[in-house]
Amino acid sequence: MATYIVLLGMPGAGKGTQAAIISKDLGLPHITSGGMFRELAGQDTELARRVREIMRRGDLVPDDLTVQIVRERLERPDAAGGAILDGFPRTVPQAEALDALLAENGHSVTVVPFFKLSKEEALARLGGRWICSKDPNHMYHTRFNPPKVPGVCDIDGAPLYQREDDTPEAHKQRIEVYMERTAPLIEYYRDRGLLVEINAEQPIEAVTAELMAAIKERIVENGHSD
Ligand code: ADP
Ligand code: AMP
Repeated sequence: MATYIVLLGMPGAGKGTQAAIISKDLGLPHITSGGMFRELAGQDTELARRVREIMRRGDLVPDDLTVQIVRERLERPDAAGGAILDGFPRTVPQAEALDALLAENGHSVTVVPFFKLSKEEALARLGGRWICSKDPNHMYHTRFNPPKVPGVCDIDGAPLYQREDDTPEAHKQRIEVYMERTAPLIEYYRDRGLLVEINAEQPIEAVTAELMAAIKERIVENGHSD
Protein backbone atom coordinates (compact mmCIF):
# COMPACT_ATOMS: atom_id res chain seq x y z
CA MET A 1 0.00 0.00 0.00
CA ALA A 2 1.49 3.34 -1.04
CA THR A 3 1.83 6.11 1.57
CA TYR A 4 0.70 9.64 0.76
CA ILE A 5 1.45 12.28 3.37
CA VAL A 6 -0.10 15.73 2.89
CA LEU A 7 1.64 18.47 4.88
CA LEU A 8 -0.84 21.22 5.68
CA GLY A 9 -0.14 24.59 7.27
CA MET A 10 0.35 28.31 6.72
CA PRO A 11 3.18 29.63 4.55
CA GLY A 12 6.25 29.69 6.82
CA ALA A 13 4.97 26.89 9.09
CA GLY A 14 8.04 24.74 8.33
CA LYS A 15 6.54 22.27 5.84
CA GLY A 16 9.45 22.40 3.40
CA THR A 17 12.02 22.16 6.19
CA GLN A 18 10.36 19.06 7.66
CA ALA A 19 9.60 17.46 4.28
CA ALA A 20 13.31 17.56 3.39
CA ILE A 21 14.18 15.81 6.68
CA ILE A 22 11.48 13.11 6.74
CA SER A 23 11.74 12.33 3.03
CA LYS A 24 15.11 10.65 3.73
CA ASP A 25 13.84 8.72 6.77
CA LEU A 26 10.69 7.48 5.05
CA GLY A 27 12.22 6.87 1.62
CA LEU A 28 9.45 8.88 -0.06
CA PRO A 29 9.99 11.71 -2.57
CA HIS A 30 9.34 15.28 -1.42
CA ILE A 31 6.92 16.77 -3.91
CA THR A 32 6.59 20.53 -3.63
CA SER A 33 4.17 22.33 -5.92
CA GLY A 34 5.82 25.66 -5.05
CA GLY A 35 9.22 24.25 -6.05
CA MET A 36 7.82 22.92 -9.33
CA PHE A 37 6.24 26.31 -10.06
CA ARG A 38 9.52 28.11 -9.29
CA GLU A 39 11.22 25.88 -11.87
CA LEU A 40 8.47 26.53 -14.40
CA ALA A 41 8.61 30.28 -13.69
CA GLY A 42 12.29 30.31 -14.60
CA GLN A 43 11.53 29.33 -18.21
CA ASP A 44 11.11 31.77 -21.08
CA THR A 45 7.50 31.14 -22.12
CA GLU A 46 4.21 32.99 -21.85
CA LEU A 47 2.95 30.45 -19.29
CA ALA A 48 6.11 30.95 -17.21
CA ARG A 49 5.58 34.73 -17.22
CA ARG A 50 1.98 34.28 -16.04
CA VAL A 51 2.98 31.90 -13.24
CA ARG A 52 5.84 34.22 -12.18
CA GLU A 53 3.43 37.14 -11.86
CA ILE A 54 0.88 35.12 -9.84
CA MET A 55 3.62 33.91 -7.48
CA ARG A 56 5.15 37.35 -7.05
CA ARG A 57 1.77 38.68 -5.90
CA GLY A 58 1.28 35.76 -3.50
CA ASP A 59 -1.82 34.47 -5.29
CA LEU A 60 -2.59 30.87 -6.24
CA VAL A 61 -1.88 29.31 -9.62
CA PRO A 62 -5.16 28.01 -11.18
CA ASP A 63 -6.31 24.61 -9.93
CA ASP A 64 -6.32 22.86 -13.35
CA LEU A 65 -2.66 23.67 -14.05
CA THR A 66 -1.66 22.79 -10.48
CA VAL A 67 -3.42 19.44 -10.55
CA GLN A 68 -1.94 18.58 -13.95
CA ILE A 69 1.61 19.32 -12.76
CA VAL A 70 1.22 17.28 -9.56
CA ARG A 71 -0.46 14.40 -11.41
CA GLU A 72 2.48 14.15 -13.82
CA ARG A 73 4.94 14.23 -10.92
CA LEU A 74 3.06 11.49 -9.03
CA GLU A 75 3.17 9.28 -12.11
CA ARG A 76 6.99 9.21 -12.08
CA PRO A 77 8.51 5.89 -10.94
CA ASP A 78 10.10 7.27 -7.77
CA ALA A 79 6.59 8.02 -6.44
CA ALA A 80 5.31 4.47 -6.93
CA GLY A 81 5.44 3.88 -3.15
CA GLY A 82 3.80 7.22 -2.37
CA ALA A 83 5.01 10.73 -1.64
CA ILE A 84 5.25 13.62 0.78
CA LEU A 85 3.14 16.46 -0.61
CA ASP A 86 4.25 19.92 0.51
CA GLY A 87 2.06 22.87 -0.54
CA PHE A 88 -0.49 20.72 -2.38
CA PRO A 89 -3.47 20.58 -2.14
CA ARG A 90 -4.18 24.23 -1.29
CA THR A 91 -7.89 24.42 -2.21
CA VAL A 92 -10.88 22.11 -1.76
CA PRO A 93 -11.09 21.38 -5.54
CA GLN A 94 -7.38 20.40 -5.46
CA ALA A 95 -8.04 18.05 -2.52
CA GLU A 96 -10.95 16.47 -4.38
CA ALA A 97 -8.80 16.08 -7.49
CA LEU A 98 -6.06 14.43 -5.42
CA ASP A 99 -8.55 11.97 -3.90
CA ALA A 100 -9.85 11.13 -7.37
CA LEU A 101 -6.45 10.64 -8.96
CA LEU A 102 -5.17 8.44 -6.10
CA ALA A 103 -8.41 6.40 -6.24
CA GLU A 104 -7.70 5.61 -9.92
CA ASN A 105 -4.93 3.32 -8.65
CA GLY A 106 -6.74 2.13 -5.53
CA HIS A 107 -4.78 4.53 -3.29
CA SER A 108 -5.81 7.23 -0.80
CA VAL A 109 -4.27 9.90 1.42
CA THR A 110 -2.65 8.20 4.44
CA VAL A 111 -2.32 11.09 6.91
CA VAL A 112 -2.46 14.90 6.97
CA PRO A 113 -0.14 16.44 9.56
CA PHE A 114 -1.44 19.97 10.21
CA PHE A 115 1.36 22.36 11.24
CA LYS A 116 -0.25 24.61 13.83
CA LEU A 117 1.35 27.96 14.62
CA SER A 118 0.41 31.62 15.05
CA LYS A 119 0.32 34.09 12.18
CA GLU A 120 2.98 36.17 13.98
CA GLU A 121 5.39 33.22 14.13
CA ALA A 122 4.74 32.36 10.46
CA LEU A 123 5.50 35.96 9.43
CA ALA A 124 8.69 36.02 11.53
CA ARG A 125 9.84 32.82 9.82
CA LEU A 126 9.04 33.99 6.29
CA GLY A 127 10.86 37.30 6.90
CA GLY A 128 14.18 35.63 7.71
CA ARG A 129 14.13 32.75 5.21
CA TRP A 130 17.26 32.20 3.08
CA ILE A 131 17.62 29.32 0.62
CA CYS A 132 20.64 27.65 -0.97
CA SER A 133 20.96 28.48 -4.68
CA LYS A 134 22.22 24.96 -5.40
CA ASP A 135 19.75 22.84 -3.37
CA PRO A 136 16.47 24.37 -2.14
CA ASN A 137 16.29 21.69 0.57
CA HIS A 138 19.09 23.55 2.36
CA MET A 139 17.07 26.17 4.18
CA TYR A 140 18.19 28.78 6.71
CA HIS A 141 16.78 31.51 8.89
CA THR A 142 18.68 34.61 9.96
CA ARG A 143 17.58 34.15 13.60
CA PHE A 144 16.23 30.62 14.08
CA ASN A 145 18.65 28.60 11.94
CA PRO A 146 21.51 30.85 10.77
CA PRO A 147 24.24 29.58 8.44
CA LYS A 148 27.78 29.53 9.91
CA VAL A 149 28.88 32.18 7.38
CA PRO A 150 26.16 34.73 6.50
CA GLY A 151 24.89 34.29 2.93
CA VAL A 152 26.68 30.96 2.36
CA CYS A 153 25.25 27.41 2.54
CA ASP A 154 26.92 25.31 5.30
CA ILE A 155 26.53 22.12 3.26
CA ASP A 156 27.79 22.99 -0.22
CA GLY A 157 29.20 26.53 0.06
CA ALA A 158 26.75 27.94 -2.52
CA PRO A 159 25.35 31.48 -2.13
CA LEU A 160 22.00 31.84 -0.32
CA TYR A 161 19.10 33.86 -1.77
CA GLN A 162 15.70 35.15 -0.64
CA ARG A 163 12.59 34.20 -2.64
CA GLU A 164 10.96 36.86 -4.80
CA ASP A 165 7.72 36.34 -2.89
CA ASP A 166 9.42 36.80 0.49
CA THR A 167 8.40 40.47 0.66
CA PRO A 168 6.08 41.97 3.33
CA GLU A 169 3.34 42.62 0.71
CA ALA A 170 3.43 39.08 -0.68
CA HIS A 171 3.54 37.62 2.86
CA LYS A 172 0.37 39.47 3.79
CA GLN A 173 -1.36 38.28 0.62
CA ARG A 174 -0.16 34.67 1.02
CA ILE A 175 -1.47 34.47 4.58
CA GLU A 176 -4.83 35.96 3.48
CA VAL A 177 -5.07 33.50 0.59
CA TYR A 178 -4.22 30.69 3.01
CA MET A 179 -7.01 31.72 5.42
CA GLU A 180 -9.58 31.98 2.65
CA ARG A 181 -8.71 29.12 0.27
CA THR A 182 -6.52 26.63 2.17
CA ALA A 183 -7.76 26.70 5.79
CA PRO A 184 -11.04 24.96 4.76
CA LEU A 185 -8.88 21.86 4.14
CA ILE A 186 -8.44 21.52 7.90
CA GLU A 187 -12.11 20.53 8.20
CA TYR A 188 -12.02 18.61 4.90
CA TYR A 189 -9.35 16.26 6.26
CA ARG A 190 -10.63 16.28 9.86
CA ASP A 191 -14.01 15.06 8.57
CA ARG A 192 -12.23 12.16 6.85
CA GLY A 193 -10.32 11.23 10.02
CA LEU A 194 -6.95 12.05 8.44
CA LEU A 195 -5.88 15.21 10.27
CA VAL A 196 -3.18 15.11 12.99
CA GLU A 197 -2.26 18.38 14.68
CA ILE A 198 1.44 19.08 15.07
CA ASN A 199 2.74 21.85 17.34
CA ALA A 200 4.81 23.71 14.74
CA GLU A 201 5.91 26.43 17.19
CA GLN A 202 8.62 24.15 18.60
CA PRO A 203 12.27 24.05 17.44
CA ILE A 204 12.92 22.13 14.21
CA GLU A 205 14.11 18.88 15.89
CA ALA A 206 11.09 18.74 18.24
CA VAL A 207 8.69 19.23 15.32
CA THR A 208 10.43 16.40 13.43
CA ALA A 209 10.04 14.07 16.42
CA GLU A 210 6.33 14.82 16.84
CA LEU A 211 5.73 14.55 13.09
CA MET A 212 7.55 11.24 12.66
CA ALA A 213 5.73 9.72 15.66
CA ALA A 214 2.35 10.76 14.22
CA ILE A 215 3.16 9.44 10.74
CA LYS A 216 4.54 6.11 11.97
CA GLU A 217 1.51 5.57 14.20
CA ARG A 218 -0.81 6.10 11.26
CA ILE A 219 1.23 3.90 8.92
CA VAL A 220 1.10 1.05 11.45
CA GLU A 221 -2.65 1.57 12.10
CA ASN A 222 -3.39 1.45 8.38
CA GLY A 223 -1.19 -1.51 7.68
CA HIS A 224 0.91 0.69 5.40
CA SER A 225 4.11 -0.67 6.91
CA ASP A 226 5.49 -2.56 3.87
P1 ADP B 1 6.94 26.45 4.60
O1 ADP B 1 7.49 25.41 3.65
O2 ADP B 1 5.84 25.90 5.47
O3 ADP B 1 6.54 27.72 3.91
P2 ADP B 1 9.70 26.62 5.49
O4 ADP B 1 10.07 25.20 5.75
O5 ADP B 1 10.18 27.25 4.23
O6 ADP B 1 8.11 26.83 5.62
O7 ADP B 1 10.23 27.47 6.75
C1 ADP B 1 10.16 28.91 6.76
C2 ADP B 1 11.38 29.47 7.51
O8 ADP B 1 11.29 29.13 8.89
C3 ADP B 1 12.74 28.95 7.02
O9 ADP B 1 13.66 30.02 7.05
C4 ADP B 1 13.11 27.87 8.02
O10 ADP B 1 14.52 27.77 8.20
C5 ADP B 1 12.45 28.38 9.30
N1 ADP B 1 11.93 27.30 10.16
C6 ADP B 1 11.35 26.13 9.75
N2 ADP B 1 10.97 25.40 10.83
C7 ADP B 1 11.29 26.14 11.92
C8 ADP B 1 11.15 25.93 13.35
N3 ADP B 1 10.57 24.82 13.84
N4 ADP B 1 11.58 26.90 14.18
C9 ADP B 1 12.15 28.03 13.68
N5 ADP B 1 12.33 28.29 12.37
C10 ADP B 1 11.91 27.35 11.50
P1 AMP C 1 5.26 27.63 -1.63
O1 AMP C 1 6.65 27.31 -2.08
O2 AMP C 1 4.48 26.42 -1.19
O3 AMP C 1 5.22 28.74 -0.60
O4 AMP C 1 4.48 28.17 -2.92
C1 AMP C 1 4.91 29.34 -3.60
C2 AMP C 1 3.83 29.83 -4.54
O5 AMP C 1 3.59 28.85 -5.58
C3 AMP C 1 2.45 30.07 -3.93
O6 AMP C 1 2.36 31.34 -3.29
C4 AMP C 1 1.56 29.96 -5.17
O7 AMP C 1 1.63 31.11 -5.98
C5 AMP C 1 2.22 28.81 -5.94
N1 AMP C 1 1.67 27.50 -5.51
C6 AMP C 1 2.33 26.52 -4.85
N2 AMP C 1 1.55 25.46 -4.63
C7 AMP C 1 0.33 25.78 -5.13
C8 AMP C 1 -0.93 25.11 -5.18
N3 AMP C 1 -1.08 23.88 -4.65
N4 AMP C 1 -1.97 25.75 -5.79
C9 AMP C 1 -1.82 26.95 -6.33
N5 AMP C 1 -0.67 27.66 -6.30
C10 AMP C 1 0.40 27.08 -5.70
